[in-house]
Amino acid sequence: MRLGGGGAILPIMSVTRGRIEKNLQRIREEIDAACARSGRRVEEVSLVAVTKTVGLDEVKHLVDLGVTELGESRAQQLAPRAEEVAAWLGRRRKPQPAPVHWHMIGHLQRNKVKAVLGCSPVIHSVDSLRLAEEVDSRAERAGQTVDVMLQVNCSQEQQKYGVAVGAAMHLGEMITTLKHVRLIGLMTMAPLSDDPEAARPSFVRLRELFEEMRSEKTGGDGFRHLSMGMSQDYPVAVEEGATLLRIGSAVFE
Ligand SMILES: *Cc1c(COP(=O)(O)O)cnc(C)c1O
Repeated sequence: MRLGGGGAILPIMSVTRGRIEKNLQRIREEIDAACARSGRRVEEVSLVAVTKTVGLDEVKHLVDLGVTELGESRAQQLAPRAEEVAAWLGRRRKPQPAPVHWHMIGHLQRNKVKAVLGCSPVIHSVDSLRLAEEVDSRAERAGQTVDVMLQVNCSQEQQKYGVAVGAAMHLGEMITTLKHVRLIGLMTMAPLSDDPEAARPSFVRLRELFEEMRSEKTGGDGFRHLSMGMSQDYPVAVEEGATLLRIGSAVFE
């Protein structure tokens, strides 16, 4: 597994529509099974297909297959790609597929906020007040309100990004005071491991933090998402309450 952190350029893979369709079907079956095991409804869980390792053709296959939530981890790829997909959808004859929503899931630098807001994304990776304030002021100028999530470092590893668990509640409260961002949930990345169970403690910690913040009324009614679970560990994430799964390689393998 490769993560698109830093400025790393990922190899672009080419995958057929048939393979993507099969993979999506298998992932949905896994999600259904995890929901059944944990007494959850499948409608509570959405798949965000992470397209950072594939080209525009694969993104189009996804849209044709009915996937509406698309994720990118780099601003430099998200902004132009969202434009290309919008133009492609605009040229298409009816019936139009459902509108797509973009999710910014990777580390976001403040000087990239303006470019990213052009496609009205959900931002999963807010981890500082300075970044939240930049999003707020750019959103105000653009006449938007932006949905954001707070990225939390639940594993206490030497991860580069994410606010510490102990500081999350306070940061969440400060973000809630901003008028042009809406705090809709929490996001975490579990430690990289081949063992899906290694992710569970991070997911549990995020859910407990979420429940604590909810009981303090942080974020209000809109505060309802847990963005957790990737290709290696998404069934575990579903069992622990994930509402948004960010899945890349399992869609394109
Ligand atoms: C790449 C990436 C994912 C998806 O990872 P896979 O292991 O390919 O499913 C999820 N979240 C973030 C933040 C990522 O950068």
